[in-house]
Amino acid sequence: MSDRTNLPPNDLRAFWMPFTANRQFKKNPRMFVAADKMHYTTSDGRQVLDGTAGLWCCNAGHNQPRIVEAIQKQAAELDYAPAFQMGHPKAFELANRLVDLAPDGLDHVFYTNSGSESVETALKIAIAYHRARGEGARTRLIGRERGYHGVNFGGISVGGIVTNRKHFGSLLNGVDHMPHTHLPDQNAYTRGQPEHGGDLADELERIVTLHDASTIAAVIVEPLAGSTGVLVPPKGYLDRLRAITKKHGILLIFDEVITGFGRLGAPFAADYYGVTPDMITTAKGLTNGVIPMGAVLTSADIHDAFMTGPENMIELFHGYTYSGNPMASAAGLATLETYKEDGIFQNAANLSGYWEDALHALKGLPHVIDIRNTGLIGAIELESIEGAPTKRAFQAFLDAYDAGILIRTTGDIIALSPPLIISKAEIDELIGKLADVLKNLD
Ligand code: PLP
Repeated sequence: MSDRTNLPPNDLRAFWMPFTANRQFKKNPRMFVAADKMHYTTSDGRQVLDGTAGLWCCNAGHNQPRIVEAIQKQAAELDYAPAFQMGHPKAFELANRLVDLAPDGLDHVFYTNSGSESVETALKIAIAYHRARGEGARTRLIGRERGYHGVNFGGISVGGIVTNRKHFGSLLNGVDHMPHTHLPDQNAYTRGQPEHGGDLADELERIVTLHDASTIAAVIVEPLAGSTGVLVPPKGYLDRLRAITKKHGILLIFDEVITGFGRLGAPFAADYYGVTPDMITTAKGLTNGVIPMGAVLTSADIHDAFMTGPENMIELFHGYTYSGNPMASAAGLATLETYKEDGIFQNAANLSGYWEDALHALKGLPHVIDIRNTGLIGAIELESIEGAPTKRAFQAFLDAYDAGILIRTTGDIIALSPPLIISKAEIDELIGKLADVLKNLD
């Protein structure tokens, strides 16, 4: 055992940081100590403009008074209530508000604590749903190359990001993948939805022919793929997926952990693209990122298929100690109220054209090979350094932090997703500083 009295103050060794280059970070740490609206404060007293809404989650910006107050009040009133066989009012109230916000036809809410747990929950519900209806052979799950569905075993199995999969064994059985829709040769510098690639949805027909529909439970996709570097769905693609899944009795799950709660200027991507799935997975913006919480929205058909048998029996053997916990429920209610009262989704919709123009003005800067956008999401793809993928974008991230803006990178793609309260002046600042970073990048 180490002698703790010998540890220097502020020792950074114990915390094994998630999705982080730990050794690089600990040599030169980047610490936030406060946040308000669009800005973080660093431990050395600098202001950093938040170009990523934390991790795609603080859609209403930071330190929102309604949310802060709701959490403080809730902690003193009811800190925790058992999630199984007991209830508390705010979890029910939040579920009703979520159903009000959700696309028509999604009428029930199952609470989780994160996006990853929402994904596991939706996949399990899909398989159990078919079994409850007497179609127990429908166990196969279909994801997509480059998909990100969190980091638990179900999520990495249906996901399609190789680094998130290859270290972790054989994953779930009975999973197949559709091809991704990134076609830079045809679609580079598209504003909004690309023209080419809608027909890639027909690959699902090929997969159905291979396995037979009677073995397939669900298809899960991000309607707009975020974490892989912002892949906007080609025109017609999502409608086609909906038509094929419906035709074969396969459930369609939209993973809206990033796109939910106004990111595209509508409550959900399902609303934005006019395609309603059978389930939507959410987290992040549900509580403005402040308290961990996720939720799976399901159709009445799915929910009702479980409501059979003796009434004293548990219908779904699934749930978490913190499902719908009081603090998260209070934060969720205050967040939804903030979105509504402050017109935050509308602000995102109103600014999306300005955002698009600002982003695409980066075309022609060194190393830039593609720019993509929708709502208040943007991506700038950089040419990789030969033999050193990710290095160039990571350097851009470090330089951006020094320049006072927080960006996010994945591979050699810079992804931007600011809080939806951003102003035109702040868009100018974010993109202007990023332009300077790109101009000086090796
Ligand atoms: N699904 C999608 C589409 C996501 O983007 C993410 C996180 O970025 C997740 C799932 C996982 O969410 P969490 O990190 O809360 O587990």
